[in-house]
Amino acid sequence: MLGVANKHGFAVPAFNAGSGQLLNAVMEACEETQSPVMIAIHPDELNFLTDSFVDQVKFLANHSKVPVCIHLDHGASYEQVIHAIQLGFTSVMIDASHLPYEENIVITQKVVAAAHPVGVSVEAELGTIGDTGNTVEGGVSEIIYTDPEVAQDFITRTEVDSLAVAIGTAHGIYPKNMDPKLRLDILEDIASRVDIPLVLHGGSSNPDTEIKKAVTMGINKINISSDIKIVFANKLRAILNEGNDEIREPNVLFPPCMEETKKVAIEKIHLFQSNDKIKFY
Ligand SMILES: [Zn+2]
Repeated sequence: MLGVANKHGFAVPAFNAGSGQLLNAVMEACEETQSPVMIAIHPDELNFLTDSFVDQVKFLANHSKVPVCIHLDHGASYEQVIHAIQLGFTSVMIDASHLPYEENIVITQKVVAAAHPVGVSVEAELGTIGDTGNTVEGGVSEIIYTDPEVAQDFITRTEVDSLAVAIGTAHGIYPKNMDPKLRLDILEDIASRVDIPLVLHGGSSNPDTEIKKAVTMGINKINISSDIKIVFANKLRAILNEGNDEIREPNVLFPPCMEETKKVAIEKIHLFQSNDKIKFY
């Protein structure tokens, strides 16, 4: 899926489906815009949703005309990755970026050795992506930028299919006093040395112009989590604060929230230029 994006210069959106409502909303957005999609599920989200949720995603994937990848977001251990593969995920991320370099290599190699024979793609991470607090994805308070030379070595030795790079983004929404700036010069350097799709995490609330630029420079997957959840939660809060104590049915409460999520998803799809790209699959 990402190879096609790499060839045609766009980025596939990876939306975190933290609930059935978010899942249905982003799927509708992708159907309407004819965009391929990665449905990302973080281990904490999977714990909450339970394993049966993966069957729901599979059902949608099998009944959709858009290509759907079921992706484990930030797998933290070999065990979590194997569990995901057994459930039917078609792509996994092993995030050992917080470990010393050689240990990151070893665990990533082990995941690749398990995933590739059964046709599952592997994303790894190098450098550290920041954290603004209050996200499932987490991160660190200080960003360590990905070293382009090290990225080249890492990809050669691990044979990963895609690499999440740290170029100045952070998970979550930035506080008002924090001005996110992408180091596009680092991205350019990395992209010139490697030929696999690169991944941007923590792309919520970075300026659209920077994201657009990054997409033309080798970023072929962008994770979106906070942006689709915030509008959902804000709408839900507004509905609950309207003062109508009779509103309780999920099918009354949630559809307006899903509409908000869908709107943001469609905006992102256009920003990533993944709309009308299913013709390439
Ligand atoms: Zn992430």
